[in-house]
Amino acid sequence: MCLTRIHHDRFTDAPTVVDEVRSRDAALGIEHESLVLTRLTGVMRRVAQVTGDDPVAATLDALASGADLVLGARLLSADGRSVGVPDVLVRLDDGYAPIEVKHHKVLGSSGIDGLVAPLESLTDVSATGPAKFRTGRRRDLLQVAHYRRLLDEAGYASRLALGGVIGSERPYRCVWVDLEAGHTPIMVEYDDYVVAATDAIEHGVAHNDEPLVDPWWRTECTRCDWAAHCKGRLEATSDVTLLSNVTTSVRDRLARDGITTIEQVAAMDPTDDRLPGPKVVLQARARAVGRLLRFDDPSTPLDVPSSPTEVDFDIETYRGQIYLAGFLITANGSSTYEPIIDWKGDLTGERELVRRLFSRLAEFAFDGAVVQHWTDYERRTLEEAGARHGLSIPGSPTVGRWFDDHGVDLCDWTRRNLVSPAGYSLKVIAPLCGFEWRDDDPGGRQSEIWFEQLVDGDDTMRERLLEYNEDDVIAQREIRRWVRRNDSGAGPGTGIPSASTWPIPARRT
Ligand code: SF4
Repeated sequence: MCLTRIHHDRFTDAPTVVDEVRSRDAALGIEHESLVLTRLTGVMRRVAQVTGDDPVAATLDALASGADLVLGARLLSADGRSVGVPDVLVRLDDGYAPIEVKHHKVLGSSGIDGLVAPLESLTDVSATGPAKFRTGRRRDLLQVAHYRRLLDEAGYASRLALGGVIGSERPYRCVWVDLEAGHTPIMVEYDDYVVAATDAIEHGVAHNDEPLVDPWWRTECTRCDWAAHCKGRLEATSDVTLLSNVTTSVRDRLARDGITTIEQVAAMDPTDDRLPGPKVVLQARARAVGRLLRFDDPSTPLDVPSSPTEVDFDIETYRGQIYLAGFLITANGSSTYEPIIDWKGDLTGERELVRRLFSRLAEFAFDGAVVQHWTDYERRTLEEAGARHGLSIPGSPTVGRWFDDHGVDLCDWTRRNLVSPAGYSLKVIAPLCGFEWRDDDPGGRQSEIWFEQLVDGDDTMRERLLEYNEDDVIAQREIRRWVRRNDSGAGPGTGIPSASTWPIPARRT
């Protein structure tokens, strides 16, 4: 956990903001864990469930009994300062190893070397195959390292320094990682972290109004209850970590030379080797002026993806299953929204939706239309749905090939041509082009909650979901219109200033 958060959680007397999406994620995580544990208890012979008023003592009893699996354990360090609540403790040959259950994917095509085991063979390390644990999920391993350290103190840790994580991949599997292997072993990283976390807490006891470690903006902040609190503070000082790829070490390096604000970074030479890359300066310039800029010379027109009939396309899914696909068909200056819907949300309904959707995509291809979408989500999801239902797009050998021939990823085009002040989400880019969603809380993950509310009987959500999907496709069209409107006379986009010069000239449009 972020050291700033460790401070805030304990000492800061300010309201946190827990949004609906994060609350739902937490509920889904609990549901997933319970599903996995039920599956595990079904395949293991000797399972001890810790209960009672003294769970620490009951855990030690369960471990002493030699149970294959200990669930609901509570471990306490000898000095009483450290506690751990592992999801699962599993008995290997000579002791126990900890496992966490996580509601996200942990298996990768690259990452940390590991071993993968089916749930039935958790106690048998020889019944494993090679696997890669996703580097981006390293924090899961720090968590199991914590449990291993506590098991070790209790005298029950296996000599094999394995820590396991069961992710959301089906069928459920455990990925084991050797916590003492590698250039920087997880256990070493964990021990260093404990020292830092303890320092942060001891500092907080003496100075509860100010964390030992200043906040810095990174991916985990977007899922943190203190995000609004920290972001407000970082924005007030125009902190450089609000820029992509600027870590705390880059911030410190710049600060040593007196560079502390985004505006100062905007004025730097993009090739300055104190920065992780030239795009940092370009983003700083876009952020400093609060608008989209071009990467290149503004006198060259931008090649906006177009065709006589332009189709903007967006799908909505619930737990990976498609229930709504929307097209915005624009020709001769007017647009028509055309949704294909399955409100039932079951597999039979999805199959019929995908069949109709594929046949519509084939018609667009026949008409020579370019179908535009945001990121490769539509492509990937339709490939999976096609495989799930044994369907393909008429006239095309594969779904992927259809997208190669007739689709355009407008997000990719935007990334290649425009510098954004704050990333390339459609919800960031379209407002910079003057578009606003009708819904005051638009978002793909919010829409999953609305779909659940619809299934639970709230019929008003039908309209909300349709409006949201329609606005997503209109947003794409508006980005292209904005680029075309920014025409200084030499073609689309020639009125958009370039980030390659600083300061940025005054707005032309
Ligand atoms: S918002 Fe970011 S910096 Fe602030 S406490 Fe959370 S993770 Fe740490």
